[in-house]
Amino acid sequence: MLSCKQLVLRSSDFLDGQLTLRERFALRTHLVMCINCRRFIRQLRLTQRVVQQLPEVDISGLDALAERLARAAEKPEKRS
Ligand SMILES: [Zn+2]
Repeated sequence: MLSCKQLVLRSSDFLDGQLTLRERFALRTHLVMCINCRRFIRQLRLTQRVVQQLPEVDISGLDALAERLARAAEKPEKRS
C-alpha cells in the first residue's frame, strides 16, 4: 500500500488528473483507509478551488512581498 508520504508527493498530480489509472487506484485505496490523507486532500482541493476562483492576481506584487519578508527574516530586528 501507498504510504502517506507517497500520497502527499502525488497529491497535486492527483488533483490535476495527471496520474495513471493504476496510480489513481492506489491513491484512492489509501484515502479510503487513511483519514489524515483524506483531510489533507480535501484541504488541498479546497485551496486549489479558491486559487482558481481568484481574479487575476498580481504575481509581481507577491514576489516583491516575499522578497521583503525573506530579507526581513535574514536581518532580525536591527533598527537604529
Ligand atoms: Zn495516509
